[in-house]
Amino acid sequence: MKPLGPIPAGFCARDGVLAIDGVKVTDIIAQSGGQTPLFVYSSALLRQRVAALREAFPAQLGLHYAMKANPFGPLLRLMAGLVDGFDIASGGELGMALRAGLDPSLISFAGPGKRDMELQAAIMQGVTLNLESEGEAARALAIGERLGKAPRLAIRVNPDFDLKGSGMKMGGGAKPFGVDAERVPALARQVVEAGAEWRGFHIYAGSQALDAEAVVDTQAQTIALAARLADEAGVGLPHCNLGGGLGIPYFPGDKPLDLARVGEALAQQLAHLPDVLQETHFCMELGRYLVGEAGVYLTRIVDRKLSHGEVFLVTDGGMHHQLAASGNFGTVVRRNYPVAIASHFEAEATEEASVVGCLCTPLDKLADKGYFPRADVGDVVAVFCAGAYGASASPSAFLGQGAAQEVLL
Ligand SMILES: *Cc1c(COP(=O)(O)O)cnc(C)c1O
Repeated sequence: MKPLGPIPAGFCARDGVLAIDGVKVTDIIAQSGGQTPLFVYSSALLRQRVAALREAFPAQLGLHYAMKANPFGPLLRLMAGLVDGFDIASGGELGMALRAGLDPSLISFAGPGKRDMELQAAIMQGVTLNLESEGEAARALAIGERLGKAPRLAIRVNPDFDLKGSGMKMGGGAKPFGVDAERVPALARQVVEAGAEWRGFHIYAGSQALDAEAVVDTQAQTIALAARLADEAGVGLPHCNLGGGLGIPYFPGDKPLDLARVGEALAQQLAHLPDVLQETHFCMELGRYLVGEAGVYLTRIVDRKLSHGEVFLVTDGGMHHQLAASGNFGTVVRRNYPVAIASHFEAEATEEASVVGCLCTPLDKLADKGYFPRADVGDVVAVFCAGAYGASASPSAFLGQGAAQEVLL
């Protein structure tokens, strides 16, 4: 038997069936055309999460949504009324953002390998470019000149530290992301002198941290680095994007981040800024922390079989929608996500079973040797923490399976 990840707060049962925003998942499926697999996103949980962040963070801190975590149109439209800005990472995401009606002046665009067409579209729309290199800066300035439009430019700094304990390190040492800190002052001067609309720095040191002290430490280092680089450059800093890094519990033993601690420390830091940052507007950009726990992936059992004494619950879903839950998206050791038999949500666990997907590869596992209530063909399985990097970060074309449906409650 292997433990399952912790089910996030905010879910309950009705008539023994998992309910999301008070509606039984079997009813949600029926109302969505009866098809599984289905991603369900709870607007109540999304609102609660934003409210918790607003409560914990100092009022002057901007809250941005990194939309690569979940670019579902209805979710973007909901977030537009809740957050202060959006971060995109491709021209494709820019298109999705514009179709969802987001204000381009509130969008920033990070990511290596931006093509000229993407730079051009962003500059025309007034999107802020977080420059990843000197080469990209030169291309953006040339495109701006050709268009007769001053580009809005910030520099993404490759910090000389990383976020301790983070699931994915995005800074420290040689990286494809950002400009090495020691070369930033010269580039900042060049961008300002070229007549661009200077936006400041973007410093993103890592992702998926559950340790508040590590986040606090990184934010202190980030602010100190921003001050040092702005001083050296001799330019002001209108904006400073502190990155993100707030993690959510996915795996057995993971504990939720102490958000109050992060917020208190940040309030202290912003109340005692060095002179060069007195006029700077700070923001954070969050993906999974905003949307991850608000999403549930529902899939139906199509076969129950025994092999060498082990029970396999074979579902109509799998890693083509839930690459991360299958353990194949940036994890070294496979551990179980929070998974439950949604149609017997309150029943006592009585057997060990593995929940697998319908792809013919041994990688396609949603829960390995979990302890579950007895489940049969037709029962619904819920994979939690499915709101981020699920639908959009899984290989839905693999084996001709196609995308899952998505619904925002
Ligand atoms: C992916 C990404 C984020 C969001 O990361 P999460 O771990 O989902 O919070 C934020 N900023 C940048 C630059 C990113 O690439």
